[in-house]
Amino acid sequence: MKLNPVITSIEEEGAFAVSDKAAALAAAGADIINLGIGQPDLEPAAHIIAAAEKAARDGPHGYTSPVGIPALREAVGEYVEKLTASVISPDQVIIVPGGKVTIYFAAMLFGGTGAEILYPDPGFPPYREAIRASKAQPVAYPIRETLDFGFNADELLELITAKTRLIIINSPANPTGGVVSQDQMDILAKGLEEYPDVAVLSDEIYSQMNFTSSENSSMLQYPHLRDRVILLDGWSKTFGMTGWRLGYGIWPLQLVEHVRKLVTVDHSCVNNIAQMAGLAAITGPMDEICNYRAKLNQRRKIFIDGLSDLPGISCAMPGGAFYAFPNITATGMDSRLLADELLNKAHVATIPGDSFGTNGNGFLRLSYAAPMDDLERALGRIKQFLHEFVI
Ligand code: PLP
Repeated sequence: MKLNPVITSIEEEGAFAVSDKAAALAAAGADIINLGIGQPDLEPAAHIIAAAEKAARDGPHGYTSPVGIPALREAVGEYVEKLTASVISPDQVIIVPGGKVTIYFAAMLFGGTGAEILYPDPGFPPYREAIRASKAQPVAYPIRETLDFGFNADELLELITAKTRLIIINSPANPTGGVVSQDQMDILAKGLEEYPDVAVLSDEIYSQMNFTSSENSSMLQYPHLRDRVILLDGWSKTFGMTGWRLGYGIWPLQLVEHVRKLVTVDHSCVNNIAQMAGLAAITGPMDEICNYRAKLNQRRKIFIDGLSDLPGISCAMPGGAFYAFPNITATGMDSRLLADELLNKAHVATIPGDSFGTNGNGFLRLSYAAPMDDLERALGRIKQFLHEFVI
């Protein structure tokens, strides 16, 4: 068989590989604490499940519109208007099976041979792989520990060339938990005035998990950019619905017809059951979400302090999402080896930082979206492992 090398060279997202390994060890009887995969330990609220049950029972059971059912597009438009203080037309909303799909569609639309797309390093691995799959050149911009895991907007703007078509930004971020400061967002937005052909994919899937300020820092806040910003969000992280595969993009109106075509040739539409559940989620009570956010914030402080007390490890306080990204260079081990050893010997699953890009070398990603008891046990095991085998 002669396969397409562009596709066969795509790298699998590390979090899923680690999760499978952790599951295999657990199936063999090991007591694994999985802080690898990025999903909240939050069950969808009862009214969300009830809406899905009703839709499964009553239908309709056929295809829906490729861009999503009208009631959901309308509700998403209103929801995002409130979150971002901007005006959104339901016609801009495209419902997709998971947040990731918007990344692929944006890469397909702006990519292609000869194009350059900027993406964060360390960053969510599908950015780079989607860019590569589109045959565009991925151009990494650095996310720095010294900038509280934000970016320097001037440094980013300097990477723009005549070939740049799209910049991907993500705040609050995976894998670092970094939140880009309002200053840097403003500098980026101002700088982009000079590049009217460069679009922005703003991945705001962790926007409801920003612990640094109550301010909204959406890229849609800048009126002069609204006709070239694509906003990515979805139900996975905010509503504890990672397995439901439901997300949305807010697209500039002139791009909607192209994305619609991509949907029709890719997956046709999202199933009605998930969409009705999504509708109940964003129009229903939000108290469980608020309680969960408060719980995450408490865990964040305790877990990061606990990591920082470990020998050979220092950990910056992340401003958002639910990830810790400790610097492990003083252990003398590289990220991959340490992650492997922690899984095999301490039975704690973590993700090596370099699976998020070369700047992630010397770091690990741990999710603190897990019960406090698991977090405490994990800290104890990591400490014991470091004392026994490393320091
Ligand atoms: N964007 C970021 C930064 C993520 O971390 C994730 C999931 O981990 C996604 C997008 C994709 O989310 P979904 O599971 O809805 O595809």
